[in-house]
Amino acid sequence: MIVVSEQAVAELITPAECLTAVEKVFASMARGSAYNFPVIREAIGHADALYGFKSGFDRESLALGLKSGGFWPGNLEKGLTNHQSTVFLFDADTGRCKAMIGGNLLTALRTAAASAVSIRYLARRDCRVLGMIGAGHQAAFQLRAALDQRCFERIVAWNFHPEMLGRLAEVGRERGIPFEEVSLDRLGAEADVIISITSSFSPLLKASQVRPGTHLACMGTDTKGKQEVEAELLAAATVFTDEVAQAISIGESQHAISRGLIQEKDIVEIGAVITKAHPGRTSEHEITLFDGTGVGLQDLAVASAAVDLAIAKGVAVEIDF
Ligand code: NAD
Repeated sequence: MIVVSEQAVAELITPAECLTAVEKVFASMARGSAYNFPVIREAIGHADALYGFKSGFDRESLALGLKSGGFWPGNLEKGLTNHQSTVFLFDADTGRCKAMIGGNLLTALRTAAASAVSIRYLARRDCRVLGMIGAGHQAAFQLRAALDQRCFERIVAWNFHPEMLGRLAEVGRERGIPFEEVSLDRLGAEADVIISITSSFSPLLKASQVRPGTHLACMGTDTKGKQEVEAELLAAATVFTDEVAQAISIGESQHAISRGLIQEKDIVEIGAVITKAHPGRTSEHEITLFDGTGVGLQDLAVASAAVDLAIAKGVAVEIDF
């Protein structure tokens, strides 16, 4: 069995390699070759923790396995990150455990890769201003991956806790792109692409604040009850997602569906755009919205890529198991 530690992941895989892996598995999902198994998430009644599994199988790449992990709110006091995860991959021919991979950094990279894929396929070519809503742990990964997709000339950002915006300003400095903290009114009026990545439970961005032609990647809503944008915005947009079943139950779409503003059949899986089964954006004025909920297959795709890279670079740690 191959072990790729959390520390090793950072040396092995780039955001671009994660994007390729995620793009491939979304396409595989669209061809019906890859599917996610039902998600398990439980409050375990100890340490206030939420623990669960995301799993699936991709018949094209033969990635089979699961991501196990969750949220331990007391971890920060112990010098650990609150979100903890590990990916296990299994041999699809024999069921033997093939690899164990640290999943914390990979989770941030695969989530950023998903919104970057949506920008690659759905944002207008001439986008110049990137809007960020959110400035937590995931936000800087999102920003870096998005900046690679278009020739952005400016970053505008808003966060519920403004004091956290410094980490995004730092990315702007790193890339030599001007950064400005703005109101949500200005963000909506100026941004060509908007990424939201917060843990909000009520809408932050209103439909009236968003211009025609904008692409939004709503990445924070991954649980029943969470919400980052007004449901009316989904009604005004063409809605894309990673997986429809998740979008309508735990994604941003849950609210628009429950209010009858959109129907399940209106939501397009991004994989269909990648495989060209769906045209994606069809006009410069269309608002496109990617409801990114985060599927297990993304985790398996980037973890498999990390294992392949570890083997190729001769740094794979193999244990007898
Ligand atoms: P974090 O705790 O580091 O940051 C939380 C962010 O939400 C910060 O910007 C904070 O200011 C903001 N926030 C907190 N309370 C708020 C409120 N009441 N109203 C508005 N904003 C508020 O979290 P993170 O790790 O950056 O994750 C952000 C979100 O992304 C979480 O909801 C997480 O579950 C979700 N997430 C989604 C995926 C996916 O695949 N879609 C993957 C990982 C994380």
